[in-house]
Amino acid sequence: MRIIVLGAGVVGVASAFFLREQGHDVTVLERQPQVASCTSRANGGQISVSGAEPWANPGVPRQLLAWLGRSDAPLRLRLRADPAQWAWCLRFLRECTAARTERNMREIVHLGLYSREVLRALRERRALHYDAQRRGILHLYGDERALRDAEHCAQRMREFGCERRVVDVDEALRIEPALHAMRASLVGATYTAGDESGDAHAFAHELARHGADDGVRFVFGHTVTALRRRGDVIDHIEATAADGSFERLEADAYVLACGCWSAPLARGAGLVLPIHPVKGYSVTLPVADDAAAWQVSLTDERHKLVFSRLGQRLRVAGTAEVGGWSRALDAARGAAIVDRVARLFPGAADTSRAVHWSGLRPMTPGNVPLIGRSRLRNLFLNTGHGSLGWTLACGSAAALASLVDGRRPDVRFAFTGT
Ligand SMILES: Cc1cc2nc3c(=O)[nH]c(=O)nc-3n(C[C@H](O)[C@H](O)[C@H](O)COP(=O)(O)OP(=O)(O)OC[C@H]3O[C@@H](n4cnc5c(N)ncnc54)[C@H](O)[C@@H]3O)c2cc1C
Repeated sequence: MRIIVLGAGVVGVASAFFLREQGHDVTVLERQPQVASCTSRANGGQISVSGAEPWANPGVPRQLLAWLGRSDAPLRLRLRADPAQWAWCLRFLRECTAARTERNMREIVHLGLYSREVLRALRERRALHYDAQRRGILHLYGDERALRDAEHCAQRMREFGCERRVVDVDEALRIEPALHAMRASLVGATYTAGDESGDAHAFAHELARHGADDGVRFVFGHTVTALRRRGDVIDHIEATAADGSFERLEADAYVLACGCWSAPLARGAGLVLPIHPVKGYSVTLPVADDAAAWQVSLTDERHKLVFSRLGQRLRVAGTAEVGGWSRALDAARGAAIVDRVARLFPGAADTSRAVHWSGLRPMTPGNVPLIGRSRLRNLFLNTGHGSLGWTLACGSAAALASLVDGRRPDVRFAFTGT
């Protein structure tokens, strides 16, 4: 089949790669001059099945009230006169019940475990250099109540197949000795040995190179402006090239992988996708002292920050702002992240050379991505991966490639259109 993949973030690149492996004639359209230039550019780096607890969970409404009006709150809500934002927030609140949280977590764990396996198998077939670290992920807790909640969450995750377990502070320090400076502020941790980390941007570039060698065509500087339908199929798509010229492109099937921009594009074809942008920030710093810097990927649950080691760079990411489409940097937020690194890991990073970034997570209300055939028979979705797009990219793409070929994917997951 002739397939056009829309969007070359980590999800679009992986989709193109697996579709090509199955023998399809694949073209990727991307408005930027290269792959992974938007949300996949400088994320937290975690391959984190243990991060499967949905952001919409029973504890969140209470937490939201406590965070209201605090400029350093991990989650900030900027309500605007935007019906789409209000509708999304209401659906988010509806996902906060215990039953829905449990269902969403199960879906994400299943897809996450599958995705880790697909990534491992891919590494065995292809040389991929992206500063991968296979040392697990530690979630760190500074108060007893949060640790108790985490014990419960870890137990549910184990029931779904994820090996997340509770460890005491001594064991956490044995796993990551660089934590010694924050020992006094820790009450416990969870450890998930099978989790990983790595640079999603480098990975997407490497995989795109392999895909291009195999015959995937990447067309950059092309902005898709419309999906034109005829009855219950996409007839063609329209795009503008970097020089302003207009193009009409046809294929047998289309894969929508435009991250949070998928929703406005789909709306033009009559599909309402519950995806909303949720802004986050990251800071990348050179390692100053190897012994003081972390190797194991970490999640500081109190401040909702993730820490990854990318070769001789340190990446710290977090915060969530439900506000709109702006990617403007917030100097105070960036400074707070740098300050936290300096306090938790004294001397580890060269904070004078911090590189700041922001990105828009393509969030669905329950954190579960939309993967599979849409109401339009030849339009497939691979989008809405929210806070876990790097974790879920390979599994989502491999599963999507199976669905396109009419085969049942090797993972139990609530695919769209099934
Ligand atoms: C601060 C932060 C930290 C994060 N940390 C982690 C983490 O540790 N682990 C994890 O798993 N995930 C993490 N994520 C989430 C992850 O980065 C995203 O889920 C993932 O990058 C989404 O990938 P994507 O390919 O769907 O979207 P994108 O990377 O945004 O790609 C979409 C592409 O579509 C293109 N596009 C859009 N519209 C058009 C158009 N009209 N025509 C042509 N092209 C178009 C865009 O240019 C873009 O290249 C984090 C996100 C943020 C913001």
